[in-house]
Amino acid sequence: MSIEDGFSSPVDVAVIGGGVMGLCIALEAARRGLSVTLLEKRYIGAGASGKSGAILRQHYSNPLTVAMARDGLKLYSDLESWAGGPSGFQRVGCLILADRRERAALEGNVGLMREAGCRAALVTPEQIRALAPMVAVEEDVLGAWEPDAGYCDPLIALATLEAACARENVTLRANCTATGLRVEKEAVTGVETHDGCLPARRIILAAGPWTNRLLAPLGLALPITTTRPTLAFFARPHDLQSGHPVIGDLTGEFYCRPDESRTLVGALDISGDDVVNDPDDYDESAPDAFLRFCRERVTRRLPALQRGPGRGGYAGLYDCTPDMHPVLGALPEIGGLYVAAGFSGHGFKLAPVVGRAFGELLATGTYETLDLSPLASTRYTEGKPVTARYEYGLLG
Ligand SMILES: Cc1cc2nc3c(=O)[nH]c(=O)nc-3n(C[C@H](O)[C@H](O)[C@H](O)COP(=O)(O)OP(=O)(O)OC[C@H]3O[C@@H](n4cnc5c(N)ncnc54)[C@H](O)[C@@H]3O)c2cc1C
Repeated sequence: MSIEDGFSSPVDVAVIGGGVMGLCIALEAARRGLSVTLLEKRYIGAGASGKSGAILRQHYSNPLTVAMARDGLKLYSDLESWAGGPSGFQRVGCLILADRRERAALEGNVGLMREAGCRAALVTPEQIRALAPMVAVEEDVLGAWEPDAGYCDPLIALATLEAACARENVTLRANCTATGLRVEKEAVTGVETHDGCLPARRIILAAGPWTNRLLAPLGLALPITTTRPTLAFFARPHDLQSGHPVIGDLTGEFYCRPDESRTLVGALDISGDDVVNDPDDYDESAPDAFLRFCRERVTRRLPALQRGPGRGGYAGLYDCTPDMHPVLGALPEIGGLYVAAGFSGHGFKLAPVVGRAFGELLATGTYETLDLSPLASTRYTEGKPVTARYEYGLLG
């Protein structure tokens, strides 16, 4: 990591936020020959990225997110090729379970994945038992199976991305808070920090739940609400040590994945999660009621976990937009100002694709590989939020 006191020369791009998004954007901008400084107020991965479940599934209800998730999965599953190091990727497959009455939506999403070139299939209870004998399923349940999905280890992936940024001469400044944005004649000129002003031609806000703090003094606000999702962990007994797929259970409203010798469990319905007003000050503990909910739900699907001791849990933050999809690209109100925020519970898998897209946008002025313009901030005022083609809202 290159650390300097103060800032000397102007940079092409200042990235604010050292989560997975900031790192991927900085990396791809630097690869396009731009000079980049990334500012992180604490340490790399201090926000949602370091706490992420990092599940990489492609099962979404709109074609754009499916395509982004497909490409994200490809890039993470061979992070060595893209960023020169491991991601801890485990290809365990992903099984989305739903009541038989949700068949049309499940089939629709499997169809979307297939149209995008992903391997996916609708599976019956009998096929689920053959694929994953540790999973208990009733006859009125159907599944969508993605054999290529899995999860990565967020801290391993972040370390690889940080090292890749350093190799591309990104200046990474940890413990450096952006305190304000300098704007002259309706265009950015630099970032104010406790260490002085960093002159910058373009500024990327990749600050998750903190994004609006930097926009507010400019009279701007994105529709981002911060909530507090929680994860629980259970040690797996010896007969479940070989693991299990990622499971998204719409009937039980939970998801889970292996986490080394433990199983990580989270809730799919986050509508009741606490709203957090100050992302610097929130309760990081997992409430007892949540741990009980997770145990009750996960043991219905993975009965062997009835013999799995609880290993506690923790809470993190989701930055949620009204349609639960991120806000990406240039903010039209101020020249040179860009945003990549509002990823709620999906951002880890999408980050390399967002990085690639921002590299293209910053270097050429347009998206080249995937057109992410439907995710522009203006979609809300234009009445064009992202909608699910096949309904069951819990998965996005
Ligand atoms: C519990 C949990 C489970 C999740 N599970 C999954 C999953 O299974 N799959 C998936 O794809 N996604 C998942 N996500 C979502 C995913 O982790 C996030 O969408 C993603 O990590 C967001 O990355 P980010 O870089 O935008 O934000 P963050 O990681 O929050 O990074 C923002 C950074 O900005 C820094 N910052 C803020 N203000 C300033 C400032 N003024 N100056 C300098 N730095 C600043 C912060 O310190 C922080 O490090 C999960 C999230 C959580 C919390």
